[in-house]
Amino acid sequence: MRYPKLREVKEALVSLFTKPYTSSFPKGDFKPYPGYRGKPVVDEDNCVGCETCANVCPPNAITFTDDPATGMRTITRDYGRCIFCGKCEEHCITGKGVKLSDEIYDLACFDRNEVVETQQRELLICENCGAIITTKQHLEFIHNKLGAKAFASVLNLNMLNERLQLAKAEDVTISIQDGLKRKNTFNILCPNCNRQLQVENLS
Ligand code: SF4
Ligand code: SF4
Repeated sequence: MRYPKLREVKEALVSLFTKPYTSSFPKGDFKPYPGYRGKPVVDEDNCVGCETCANVCPPNAITFTDDPATGMRTITRDYGRCIFCGKCEEHCITGKGVKLSDEIYDLACFDRNEVVETQQRELLICENCGAIITTKQHLEFIHNKLGAKAFASVLNLNMLNERLQLAKAEDVTISIQDGLKRKNTFNILCPNCNRQLQVENLS
């Protein structure tokens, strides 16, 4: 019984005169190790509001609400719920929309609303049925990715027209009255309405 006690005294004395293993944060700085997963930071220029990160976020820290009245999508990121798993960064479709930083300890706060962030993106809404297709920035991202293949999609053709100014927007998008007609081919339509228009035009 005597030896374990002596060993404990020795350990106590050694630890009294050596530096602690823990960091002195928050009194002193703490430099995280490479690969440390801290607070996710959104890059406003590269987040297109596509919803992918919300779908993969395990604790539902990222949520989306669409408001057709204002035509805006609101993305809410609640870092009070975030578990810093990095799934949002891993699955971001642009690869740059959100990145984990080495910032975490400063998230400590008394009011949890202080660690909630929101972003807004413009919605792309079907002109026939009012269905939400996606965001305008998301379509633009797809359009740029497709390159020459963008010519295969009517939605993308509209975007090409806007860019190249081949025809006036009012000449290609005609108000929808009494159902979809061939003349509405270049209107903004969701996949269901577009299919309906194509099938009716074929028959
Ligand atoms: S997956 Fe990327 S681009 Fe899409 S909403 Fe999330 S951060 Fe933005
Ligand atoms: S790091 Fe994980 S928990 Fe945090 S927002 Fe991204 S996906 Fe959600």
